[in-house]
Amino acid sequence: KLSKRLQAVASRIGNDAVLADIGSDHAYLPAHLVLTDRIRRGIAGEVARGPFESAEATIRETGLEGKVIARLADGLEAIREEDGVDTVSIAGMGGPLIASILENGKERLSGVRRLVLQPNIHAGAIRSWAVANGWHIIEEDILEEDGKIYEVIVLERGKAIYDDLQLRFGPYLSERQPPAFRKKWEREAASLRKIIDRMQEASPSEERDIKEAKLKRSLYEILEVLG
Ligand code: SAM
Repeated sequence: KLSKRLQAVASRIGNDAVLADIGSDHAYLPAHLVLTDRIRRGIAGEVARGPFESAEATIRETGLEGKVIARLADGLEAIREEDGVDTVSIAGMGGPLIASILENGKERLSGVRRLVLQPNIHAGAIRSWAVANGWHIIEEDILEEDGKIYEVIVLERGKAIYDDLQLRFGPYLSERQPPAFRKKWEREAASLRKIIDRMQEASPSEERDIKEAKLKRSLYEILEVLG
């Protein structure tokens, strides 16, 4: 059974997709989707040998040889033209790492119609990448599991314009503000407040003032969105 976090990713993969799951670790996501007849086949891409071997073990143990293929590769290099991949998922990493994987391999996305991304932190990096590369957000989700809060961003091709607040907080999430969203940003605000308070104990310097002003702007933005 998938974790609640991976279920939130799985439910956004279209029926009959050909999926490349990048940073797949145990290949749980593509294996689950093939086993439940949700997708036709999947690639499990892994850059690290240990997780790649775990992916191979999952495929062997579930008898999915040929339907899920594990590849030891950096980012989107796991995708080959003949695979016919139409959907890419990248889950369980920071937003900036996910954005850099997309940026570094974007020539491999030519046949891809949907990206299902699950950043643990700094989802804004993904939204900025999307805008700069002709993708737009079709859906956003946020959920809490084991005390941690995760976002899911679904992108399809098409231009969109988001302002700075929408890039940071998410155009749909900031509109709807579900409980996990409010909890995430209340936590973030509390941690910023702590850092700002501690800074005021440090000896004054121009550098400190600049840093403090930046953190305060960041905090005020959160308070503005939470209202
Ligand atoms: N996607 C799974 C999930 O959400 O449960 C596993 C997440 S795990 C925290 C992140 C995985 O991404 C690790 O196994 C790591 O080796 C892999 N990874 C990190 N950078 C990568 C890259 N550039 N290309 C492929 N895999 C990468």
